[in-house]
This record gives sequence, C-alpha cells and structure tokens, in this order.
Amino acid sequence: MSKQANQSDKELFAQAREMIPGGVNSPVRAYGSVGGTPHFIKEAFGPYVRDEEGNTFVDLVCSWGPALLGHSCPQVVQAVQDCAVKGLSFGAPTVAETKLAQAITARMPSCEQVRMVSTGTEATMTAIRLARGVTGRDLIVKFAGCYHGHSDGLLAAAGSGVATQGLPGSAGVTAAVASETIVLPYNDFDALTKTFKLKGEQIAAVICESCPANMGVVPPLPGFNQHIRALTRKYGALMITDEVLTGFRVGPSGYWGLQNDYWVDLPAKLPDFSDEDARAAWHAQQLKNLDFVPDIFTFGKVIGGGMPLAALGGSREIMEHLSPVGPVYQAGTLSGNPLATAAGLKTLELADHSVYARTAAVAEVISRAIEQESEQAEVALKVNRAGSLFSVFFGQQPAEHGVHNFEQANAQETFRYRAFFHAMEEQNIALPPSGFEAWFVSAAHDDRAVGRILSALPSAMEAAREAEDEDR
Ligand code: PLP
Repeated sequence: MSKQANQSDKELFAQAREMIPGGVNSPVRAYGSVGGTPHFIKEAFGPYVRDEEGNTFVDLVCSWGPALLGHSCPQVVQAVQDCAVKGLSFGAPTVAETKLAQAITARMPSCEQVRMVSTGTEATMTAIRLARGVTGRDLIVKFAGCYHGHSDGLLAAAGSGVATQGLPGSAGVTAAVASETIVLPYNDFDALTKTFKLKGEQIAAVICESCPANMGVVPPLPGFNQHIRALTRKYGALMITDEVLTGFRVGPSGYWGLQNDYWVDLPAKLPDFSDEDARAAWHAQQLKNLDFVPDIFTFGKVIGGGMPLAALGGSREIMEHLSPVGPVYQAGTLSGNPLATAAGLKTLELADHSVYARTAAVAEVISRAIEQESEQAEVALKVNRAGSLFSVFFGQQPAEHGVHNFEQANAQETFRYRAFFHAMEEQNIALPPSGFEAWFVSAAHDDRAVGRILSALPSAMEAAREAEDEDR
C-alpha cells in the first residue's frame, strides 16, 4: 500500500488546501455548509464510493448526477477504454459525435440539432448568447435559487454552491452584466407576467431549470413551465429549459418528458436519420399534442456518463445561428471529446426504461422512509420529490407551508440537516453536503444498498431532532 493511502482525509485536506483554494476544485466539495472534512475518494463502484482511509460509503451524490447507472459501470468503462487506445483527442469531427447527437435528438425531439460543449456552464452560457443573437435583445430572466453554472450573467441569486454559501451572487461580476439579468421568485406567475408587461420587448430569453434541483428539489407548480412558454411566445422571447441536471436522469426525455407525458419508446420510434424528409416528419409528428415545447434545451451530467460533456439543442432554425453557419460564435478545443462522447453514448444506450423504473422506485422508498421516520421522531420536515430526484428540508416552516421557491427553501433549518448528514456519514452513508442540493440515486442502488440507507435513518433522525442552532 502506498504512503498516500495511509494518510487520513484530514491530512490530505490540509495538503490540498495549501495547493488549491479551499482544497477543492468546486466549492460544495469543501463541506462548508455541514462542516467536517470531505472524503478523498479513491475509487467508486456501483452504489459505493471508497475514500483514501478505506471507508466505503453508500453514495447518494452520484457525482452530482452523471452516475445514473452506478459508478464504474463496466460497459461504460469498456467503451472509454476501447476509445482511449485509438487516441484521446483529435480536434476534428468524429462519427461518434453525430451518433450522440442522434441519440439526444431521438429522446428530445424538439432538438433537431445539438452542439456539444464540455460543461453545463458552457451549455447555458452559449444558450444565452444564442438567444440574444437570435432575438437581438439583451435582457435575460432567471429565477432565484435556480443554478445554471458559473457564467457571469447567471450567478445572480443562484442555487447550488452559491446558495449553500448564502451569497447574493459573486464578486467579479460587473454591475453592467448583472443589470442585464432580471431575477424573479420561482413559481410566481404574477411576477413573470408583470415583468413581461413592463419589459417584454427587451427580453431575449427566460432561462429556467426544467425542475429546479439546486435549491433542493423544488418542482414547478402545475402550469408554471407552460406559463413561461406562453409569455415568451407572446413577446417574442425564447424559452431556455435547463435540463443539465434533470436531462436523461429523471427519464429518457428529462423532466420535460415527465411533464408532457412523453416517454420515448426506443428504438421503435426512431426514423432513418440519414433521410432528411423522414427525419423532419418524425420531429413534427413527435411534437404533436404536447403541452409545451421550449426553444432551447441545455444538457450535461448524464450525457457525458461521468466524463466532461454537455450540450445545447433546439430547432435547426435556431441552432444554425451558431458558428460556423451563423454569426453567434462558440467553440471548444475539447468539445465532443472522443472519450466523453463514447461514455455518453454508452450511457444513453444502457439507460432503458428499467433504469428509470429502478431509480424512481429507489427514490420513492427512501423518501417515504424519511417521512415515516420523521413522523415517528416528531421531526418537522418536508421531502420534495421529482421522479428519481428528491431532497429534504428540515423545519416547521417547510413542513407547514411546503417549499415552492427560494425564500421557502431558505427557511429550512440547516443545522438539523448538518446533524443528520454527519449521523448518516458515521453509518457510512454519503449524502450531499448541503441541504440545498438534490439527492441522487443510481440504477446500481440495489436492495442491499437501500437497506443500509434505511437502517441508518432512525439514529440520523434522532440526531436531527436533538440538534441545536449554534448560530442563535
Ligand atoms: N445547470 C444546472 C441545472 C446544473 O445543475 C448545473 C450544475 O450543477 C449547471 C447548469 C452547470 O453545469 P457544470 O457544473 O457542468 O458547469
């Protein structure tokens, strides 16, 4: 065993902090919200992660989403290995990119074309630039608590790590950039209507998570996404639906698919994609009778199968505003990287209905068990769930009023989550290290792994009940 393997997480964290700001390459990993020391992960397999100290945890983070099939899925690893021996990056087109674009479009039929990038941040940033290029307008509307990555204009009142740290936005974002983003309360129909009445002609796009999951999981109220669609259409703005987190995770057609009752039956529904007429007819047919269809979708996480890959997609008319066809510039040295493309393609191929049925069932079992335990322990909380995604908001306010927006998410008792988190961790269950993040399960979470989670709940709930707010 190497010397490194014998070092404790504490020692490794201290060394990392010397070399990397905060010891991490993405803030939420630093455990700022829950306290304690992050685990330095050595390896992961199925529903488990193992740290450098040799502790094995049932993982409910799943790499923040990508590990839909479980960690180190053998077929995905094999696909990457087969690809790696042929070259790591070419900076030139590959057939696999066209195949991945087809696989995405087959599940998201409003996406006639797809542009691949490396991160969700790039996908939403490009979507915004594209919307501005298409409409010739400047203003963007986003919702408080929604996270769309860390590009300047989208950081205002963002969820995820920004919410965890209680930041209003970020230093380094100019007032001029911030002034082009209008932030509204989520699920507030009237606020959106009023904003469009006042400034509708200047709004390029409304960007919204299909189902917000970065302030904890906060599903849209019935009709809210449709309301965004109706207003954007009326005023000539674009609707950007961010499925970076939910896409291909909560179902083959993301949360949009769940809302529209659209469930692709692959491969039976697939046209011959090389025949352009057949393809156009297929797209039109698929989009019939749907409740709403956004203009631009953004994807990430699952489509890279654990490798850096993200994308945006939309109609050919909109997408061909991107360079080299159109005037909206976008590029990337590693965009469509062969290894990431191979991992994404294999992941989508394996993500059949049984995968979604299993993840939804596991999420239901765990979230119900949490509700039951909380009742028994008399701990007030609210569990929000959207397909296989869920999160837990501790506190009387969430329990009584529900959580439908960022203000209500902020009313959660984070000190109880902190205690709950550590009590679960002591029993080798790894939860997201913040009450503002979704819990992720995978198809590899078998009954044994689920059983371990369930049996850890009673004492963790007890810890949450006994917790005291030290900030008071
Ligand atoms: N959009 C959503 C909805 C996300 O959840 C995230 C990341 O969590 C992003 C965009 C940014 O993606 P990335 O971290 O790959 O830049």
